[in-house]
Amino acid sequence: MLAEAEHVVVLTGAGISTESGIPDFRSTGGLWGKFDPMEVASMSTFLHEPERFWGFHRPRIDMLAGADPNAAHKAVAQLQRRGVVKQLITQNIDRLHARAGSEDAIEVHGSLDSGCCIRCGHEVDIDELVAMADAADDGVPRCPPCGFQMKSGVILFGESLPAEAIDRAFEAAEEADAMLVVGSSLQVAPVSRLPGTVLRRGGMLAILTEGPTPYDDEAHVRLNGKAGKQLTEALAELEALL
Ligand SMILES: [Zn+2]
Repeated sequence: MLAEAEHVVVLTGAGISTESGIPDFRSTGGLWGKFDPMEVASMSTFLHEPERFWGFHRPRIDMLAGADPNAAHKAVAQLQRRGVVKQLITQNIDRLHARAGSEDAIEVHGSLDSGCCIRCGHEVDIDELVAMADAADDGVPRCPPCGFQMKSGVILFGESLPAEAIDRAFEAAEEADAMLVVGSSLQVAPVSRLPGTVLRRGGMLAILTEGPTPYDDEAHVRLNGKAGKQLTEALAELEALL
């Protein structure tokens, strides 16, 4: 499928990063097992209980920063370099695609590369945000110009998704003649509608995800198992053909 398609778009979710040691909050156990992410990583907690929000968010930044890209992230980056994959869309905020060498991923749930003030728009990079949190007595980084609590670029529950990224993702899906889904259970709208956009236009769909998805009956290729191993094998076969 990858060899035949002319405009492949890759969509990745939390499952591509579990092999890097980052737990998927939809699976049990791990860091998320102790919290209700819908509650603690929400706009409401950020606004009304910033200390509790940052008490959760700050160690998570260290956990994500300590993870390394795995074979699946590297295979996706290589597929982009070879010109096979024209666009990458990710639901992940962990920056592992960028660190694996992927450029210009559309990050539909935001990203952990910056901090911002939602009151006055002041922006800082992630290192500065972390330094501000660590210097604060209560662990809450506060905006230098206006004093309001700062948040990272990660989109919270109850917060609008970044409209520009969502628009770009759907434009990419409209152009795709094949979509490869890696590590997403395709449960979260509106991203869950991207594969349907490709299928409606007669495109192909491959899903490489552990566990069921709503598109399992319609996918042309459906693989379970570990993304790192399977993408590495697919890449090797493809390179023999190209
Ligand atoms: Zn501010």
